Amino acid sequence: MSNLFDRSRRNLAWWFTLSMGSILVIFASVIYVAVVKDRQQAFDLQLYSKSRVMAAGIRYSLQQGQWRVRLDDVPLLGSNTLFIERLEDEIAYARWYSPKGKLIRFVREKPPTLVKITPGFQTLQISKLWLRQVTLPVLQDGVLIGYLQIASPLTSVQETLTQLCFVLAIGVPLGIVAIGFTGWFLGGLAMQPIYESYQRLNRFTAYASHELRNPLAKVLSHAQLGLMSTEEGNTEAISRLQIIIKTTKAISNLVSDLLFLARHEGVLNAQILKEIDLVGFLQTLIEEQSIYCEDKELFFKTDFPSSQVILGVEPDLLRQAILNLLSNAIKYTPVGGTVELKLIRFSRSVIIQVLDNGTGIPSADLPYIFEQFYRCQSHRQYTGFGLGLAIAQQITQAHRGKITVSSTLGEGSCFQIELPAI
Ligand code: ADP
Repeated sequence: MSNLFDRSRRNLAWWFTLSMGSILVIFASVIYVAVVKDRQQAFDLQLYSKSRVMAAGIRYSLQQGQWRVRLDDVPLLGSNTLFIERLEDEIAYARWYSPKGKLIRFVREKPPTLVKITPGFQTLQISKLWLRQVTLPVLQDGVLIGYLQIASPLTSVQETLTQLCFVLAIGVPLGIVAIGFTGWFLGGLAMQPIYESYQRLNRFTAYASHELRNPLAKVLSHAQLGLMSTEEGNTEAISRLQIIIKTTKAISNLVSDLLFLARHEGVLNAQILKEIDLVGFLQTLIEEQSIYCEDKELFFKTDFPSSQVILGVEPDLLRQAILNLLSNAIKYTPVGGTVELKLIRFSRSVIIQVLDNGTGIPSADLPYIFEQFYRCQSHRQYTGFGLGLAIAQQITQAHRGKITVSSTLGEGSCFQIELPAI
């Protein structure tokens, strides 16, 4: 059962990590997008103000009877050296186009021959360098006199974003690991009271069943003595004493099963496991059980490997688990049916199968039959308390194995215990 608590704790930690981790990743992505937007806006604003400074130097005047644009006072494009030092570092190129889009003058990067002038901002890549370009329509007295186009490398924005990526790439996984540990710790805290109350309940069951054993043994021995000393003709007293003996034995079995379930908890310590040959072990078991098969005229089959199969197990417990499966197979198979015990060896595991061609189990009952006290509705006429499979499952899990069932109603069942070979 501590397996169950560990599993629940792991599940809690896992779901906590998954939900909080997703929130963290979404949060980090939102921050990243917000920073990208903010940086780009700030960059665009700077680029725009530079283009405004340059555009302020453009003159449009009447020369020899013709309106002409003069670029002499424009920083970079003309001979104006004001701001030139600052602009030189920051501007990748500057271009002046006529209102019809014809290139009139340019500095640095020569533009491609055929370009369509689109006012506004654009991001471009020129020989591996990312640039942000602004194209500004320049108007004088409401008349378009040309387009000023400048571009600046996005290096500073890229550096900031690379740094941010680096921080997030380290911070987010570290955050998720921290969340995982917190989830594990909180899961432990949440499970603690449930685990404690489960243990209290278990202790109660163990004490109660232990205390019940002695009085039950007394009732049984008195009933048996009574039966021996009853005169043969007194049939009514004999049948009543027989009922008492039968019922007391059933209650004793129930009490032993409850005690067993309450005491054998968790995975078995490797030191108490004994290496045994499963083939010989199962053969001895069959000899004990064959008498019950004969009583019911059942055909008993075995299928074991020809050589030894050595495995570390707790023999008494494993014996109990297989006996529970065998006695069920015998109980739920009608006269003349077949019961089979199989042992299959794999490189990493060993499989023990108990098969029968008996009543089978309704598919609606299959998910519950390993629960304590669960019995199929259709099997109420058989004796039993619904603890045999719960015990078999507990023993299998104590060996780090798993127990499964497949069954078809009216055709039979196959119970399988899989034990790890290492
Ligand atoms: P019980 O003492 O009632 O047999 P178990 O825990 O051993 O308790 O089994 C639980 C229920 O599973 C049984 O009541 C029965 O309905 C069903 N069952 C178990 N083994 C078989 C089987 N081999 N064939 C058909 N039904 C089975």
